[in-house]
Amino acid sequence: MTTSVSEKMLKLGTHRSTIREIFEYGRKRKMEVGQENVFDFSLGNPNVPSPREVNEEAIRLLRGAEADTVHAYSSAPGFDDVRARLADSISRRFGTSCSMEQIFMTCGAAASLTVTLKAISVPGDEVMVCAPYFPEYKIFVEGAGDRFVMIEARTEDFQLPLDRIKAAVSEKTKAMILNSPNNPCGVVYTKENIMALAEILERKEKEYGHPIYLIADEPYREIAYAGVEVPFLPLYYRNTIVCYSYSKSLSLPGERIGYILVPDTMDDPEKVMGAVAGAARVLGYVCAPTLFQKVVAACADQTSDIAIYEANKNLLYNALLQYGYSCVEPGGAFYLFPRSLEEDAYAFCEHAKKYDLLLVPGDDFGCPGHVRISYCVQTETIERALPLFRRLAQDYGVCGR
Ligand code: PLP
Repeated sequence: MTTSVSEKMLKLGTHRSTIREIFEYGRKRKMEVGQENVFDFSLGNPNVPSPREVNEEAIRLLRGAEADTVHAYSSAPGFDDVRARLADSISRRFGTSCSMEQIFMTCGAAASLTVTLKAISVPGDEVMVCAPYFPEYKIFVEGAGDRFVMIEARTEDFQLPLDRIKAAVSEKTKAMILNSPNNPCGVVYTKENIMALAEILERKEKEYGHPIYLIADEPYREIAYAGVEVPFLPLYYRNTIVCYSYSKSLSLPGERIGYILVPDTMDDPEKVMGAVAGAARVLGYVCAPTLFQKVVAACADQTSDIAIYEANKNLLYNALLQYGYSCVEPGGAFYLFPRSLEEDAYAFCEHAKKYDLLLVPGDDFGCPGHVRISYCVQTETIERALPLFRRLAQDYGVCGR
């Protein structure tokens, strides 16, 4: 008997990502030297607990009068009252006019992105992504049958490299994925930067006679630090589709809950939403987890305690600069993306393992010469890791004080 499976899927399913490799290495290493002696900065798993109200609402729902419906199917796009409540929250917070018809509940940002890409893609399409970027984008884009077009990072400040974007847009460009606050560099694109991007894309839409969608991947929208404003993209660019997730803002990555917002101000919104509904069917993402649809509706205006991430950022960022590292200051999310202290970031991360510091090479994010440090860990872990970051810098002869 010959087993025939998709070679492409087999490869994807059996080759671990570098991040997962490092995480697995950390797991084994912890068994050897003890949990507290391994400083795992590899994963973006929120360490700040969900707000108390999230668990209370889940318990209330499970114990209360609705107990017999919380495990039932909802409508394909989600419960009407949930979508209406989220639409109301969006309208209030961003000064827009959003209604439930514009919202499709999904299983987190990954599902929002794969559904959106599937919905808009036709053979021959290209999707642009600026480095540094979340590595799964390449898999999602290629999975939808599109060509992945990476635009090199502007490493001096990690804002959008507008000239390079302008040069990369072609008649085949169907969309651009934008992620702000950004994983892996934590940068928030400024309003001016976004407006300049919108101008480029609008001009190209006119030139080519078709929409170029801006797919706003927003799992970190609410994780923005003091004084930093995260522009709400539909206010700046008409053909924006928002892919939202509660994985990070409410620390619910395991519950798989988020939504797609198709604003009615875009071109042909009913057609786009219809295709989103079709793509959700094809990919099996209809009827998002019902208990957590109801929970996020009740907690739509809340977030986990962002101040903890900001304190971690300040502690680690200031110390790294003092030790001689070079790093763009994040405006949000929970990642730092300093320059590697040697050209080969893989070699640098290997060297860091000597101190049981687990970092991820920037190459995986399309940005060699950098490393990602996820600081969604206990503040005490960072405090204990600081002397090790210092010794690491000393090994390369760059350490200041
Ligand atoms: N997009 C970005 C930029 C992310 O960092 C992540 C997860 O880390 C995702 C999407 C996927 O998020 P979710 O857990 O909501 O699927």
